[in-house]
Amino acid sequence: MAIIDFRVQDVVRLRKPHPCGGWEWTVYRIGADIGLECRECRHRVMLTRPVAEKRLKTFVSRGPRVEDEADGAG
Ligand SMILES: [Zn+2]
Repeated sequence: MAIIDFRVQDVVRLRKPHPCGGWEWTVYRIGADIGLECRECRHRVMLTRPVAEKRLKTFVSRGPRVEDEADGAG
């Protein structure tokens, strides 16, 4: 069972819509908890990682990959 690679700025769709009618959430914080902001009403929630993984239906778009080391090639 893979750990879901949440990234800041991911746009995700959950299994149930927010009461406001919005389906899409932007990931704004990664840590022990996953912070999600409703794209419809800007309401913010914090979910534990297991809960966030369980509610996730699909990624709408991905945030930038976090690079731990610069390769200096630029
Ligand atoms: Zn909402």
